[in-house]
Amino acid sequence: MYDRFNRKIDYLRISVTDRCNMRCKYCMPDNNNIQWLKHKDILSYEEIRDITKYLVSKGIKKVRLTGGEPLVRKDIEVLVHMLAQINGLEDLSMTTNGILLASFAKKLKSAGLDRVNVSLDTLDADTFRKISSLGELNDVLEGISIAQKTGLNPVKINCVNSKYNTDQDIANVKAFGEKNGLQVRVIHQMDLAGGIFTTVEGGQGGNCTSCNRLRLSSDGRIFPCLFNNQSYDIRKTGVEKALALALNNKPKKGYNNQNQSFNQLGG
Ligand code: SAM
Ligand code: SF4
Repeated sequence: MYDRFNRKIDYLRISVTDRCNMRCKYCMPDNNNIQWLKHKDILSYEEIRDITKYLVSKGIKKVRLTGGEPLVRKDIEVLVHMLAQINGLEDLSMTTNGILLASFAKKLKSAGLDRVNVSLDTLDADTFRKISSLGELNDVLEGISIAQKTGLNPVKINCVNSKYNTDQDIANVKAFGEKNGLQVRVIHQMDLAGGIFTTVEGGQGGNCTSCNRLRLSSDGRIFPCLFNNQSYDIRKTGVEKALALALNNKPKKGYNNQNQSFNQLGG
């Protein structure tokens, strides 16, 4: 499928939850003031499957599960299994902070997940604690290693360059990637409300002219652009209409988004 600027849309990012077992400073800075979604508003796995099935029938080929932290949603491997059965879906991946990955890798692989991206901004345990507020670096490193051994390859690393880490941290993560056969993508810290974003080093995000993405929020809205307030509520209009509106209103270029945060939209 194509949007009105003739960009081919074949990539869907699904945020399965807004909850997380970390509190990264650049993602959930105002820890005490987070407005969590209500349980009843969160899409069920059956709803996510049916929506995805429809979107795949229209041309989506790649799906990424994100969040919040996808591994904190109960029985996430059940959703992975449901999505992996969809005919025409060519690539099913997940972005995770890696904290629970060691214990989930095998289940995810057997359920049909193709690969994972793991977020890692530093190899220094203290800096890691400062950025994430919760969570231990060693759990992430173990998760990465087990994901590789389990065959969730290629395992890629998302490294956010922010004021909370240094150039040396980034260089160390890059060297760690080279040594261990991990592709590292450096993402400059973005600001949704301020409309601050750049292209991703080693990745495809942030380039509006070639943007191929739609996003599905955990409360069932299609967002045509991360840096735009517009969203189309599937529960209100039905998926067909929400998709048509999202395609017709996907902006030529991202501007800003004052209503959402990274943990709601999944980056
Ligand atoms: N919890 C998972 C994780 O951290 O990988 C998935 C969700 S997280 C919102 C998805 C990606 O967005 C992560 O790689 C994270 O580092 C990135 N991210 C979060 N806040 C960001 C920000 N302000 N600027 C740039 N990237 C950000
Ligand atoms: Fe959680 Fe990921 Fe946001 Fe960090 S970046 S707080 S791990 S959702």
